[in-house]
Amino acid sequence: MGDPRDFKFIGLCLAIGLAACGQQKTDEDKSAFSPAITAEDLAAHSAVLASDDFGGRPPSGPMADKTITYLVNALENMGLEPAFGDSFTQKVPLVSIEAAPDAVLRVAGDAQTRSYAYGSDMMVWTTRVAEHMAIKDSELVFVGYGINAPEYGWNDYEGIDMTGKTAIILVNDPGFATQNPDLFDGNSMTYYGRWTYKYEEAARQGAEGAIIIHQTAPAAYPWSVVENSWTGPQFDLVRPDGNAGRVAIEGWVQERVAQQIFADAGLDFDDLTKAAQTPGFKPMTMGLTASVAVKNSIETSQTVNVGGVLKGASHPDEAVIYTAHWDHLGEGPAVDGDKIYNGAADNATGIATVLEVAQKMAAAQKSPRRTVLFLFVGAEEQGLLGAYHYADNPITPLGKTAALINTDVVLPLGEMKDITVIGLGSSQLEEILADNIAVDGRSLTPYPNPEQGFYFRSDHFALAKRGVPALYLDTGTEHITKGRAFVAKAKADYVAHRYHKPSDEIMPDWDYSGVVLDARAIHDVGWTVANSDRWPHWYEGNPFRAIRAESADMRP
Ligand SMILES: [Zn+2]
Repeated sequence: MGDPRDFKFIGLCLAIGLAACGQQKTDEDKSAFSPAITAEDLAAHSAVLASDDFGGRPPSGPMADKTITYLVNALENMGLEPAFGDSFTQKVPLVSIEAAPDAVLRVAGDAQTRSYAYGSDMMVWTTRVAEHMAIKDSELVFVGYGINAPEYGWNDYEGIDMTGKTAIILVNDPGFATQNPDLFDGNSMTYYGRWTYKYEEAARQGAEGAIIIHQTAPAAYPWSVVENSWTGPQFDLVRPDGNAGRVAIEGWVQERVAQQIFADAGLDFDDLTKAAQTPGFKPMTMGLTASVAVKNSIETSQTVNVGGVLKGASHPDEAVIYTAHWDHLGEGPAVDGDKIYNGAADNATGIATVLEVAQKMAAAQKSPRRTVLFLFVGAEEQGLLGAYHYADNPITPLGKTAALINTDVVLPLGEMKDITVIGLGSSQLEEILADNIAVDGRSLTPYPNPEQGFYFRSDHFALAKRGVPALYLDTGTEHITKGRAFVAKAKADYVAHRYHKPSDEIMPDWDYSGVVLDARAIHDVGWTVANSDRWPHWYEGNPFRAIRAESADMRP
């Protein structure tokens, strides 16, 4: 329906007569969507998906349906099989929870009780699907960075039972705080620095509440981002337990609020922050209690993941997965009269890249040994929800998923001497990639801003944290003729002026030649693993190595 190939094909049939249709490939037919990866095809898919006609690809509604139809038609026309039984789509049930903005956080000690206001002082919510949720007189415990990382020999919860208690947690990790390269990963944000991890770990520790202290530098954004991000409906998956496994109350407090709380406890915030950066730190009960209640409005909705597979010839129960999220933000507040958030680089070009890889593999003479899944996940912008849903409902067990390659935000800036690996140093997939691109004289480059923790912010992460080795790439850093400054400037310009704005549109000066090279590299890594008996592993020291090892018995 939305696939431009349909129009070309119909035109061709009319021109050459119906009898010849489907029997002969002409040059014109090939140029519609070539089995090879071409700049023209990448540009054509991107232009359709990023057009105003697709309304910014919201997670549900008519514009979502249009996007889904486009993808299903494309996969079907390539000759791929439906990934989910007889369907190319997997339903992803969503719930949105909106907290009333009138919650008050009360912190009580022997001497006084203070009240902190929603929005200006703190943000609180619950991810449990319930109309009311509260904590009452929950004992506050300062747990430093709230990290339990066996591979670093670090446990901020050591020796404490958190049942019924509320954790007060510093953002980021001791490595970033001290810039000590020997502590965690130094300036690079680790898995343990992400706020998502901190709430999850607090829940694993049995805590009742978890409150993160906002500080602008280690959070990498001002308080306004916290306030805006948690205002309005918050989406999540509909899980069988209604998220009962999460802590009852999650939240953030402003740094000045934390300083007040520490002062009321007779503790020095700066001294304890320093102590928390030192090995051997012990959690500390603060002699204060917290009480807060939230009221929610709850709505359910649905999105889908779209997937097509190439069945493995000899090991169909083993898989390699390509992911690219199909959704973006839909319509939002108008900027310069434009209310459609087109998401051209985020992630129309990424979708186009995976479609091109799929088309090339589908056209190959021989099927790969392992199954290859081309998975276009939904509701990424709501928190990788489609990817998390797939992780709970995979078509082959995650323990037998050999590799995942994710594509998210592709800027067509032309040919690069290198390819950027976000989270370089994670897994053996990087060696396979390096070997494959070395023939073109290209090399791997680490992401220039590892403190931003991007490895933990796109779809592959939902499966990586369950152990699946995952590769996440970005456009390189050095253009073959225009050098490094050109690329740095173009990327900075995108982040400052177009990322998550209506102006993320197809740009007239985009040059897809580099995307062709990167798509070939992405193809070759997956093809290599899909035709191998090897199981690429996380490197020693990676936080996901231990969980991968737990499923070792599944792998021959
Ligand atoms: Zn994205």
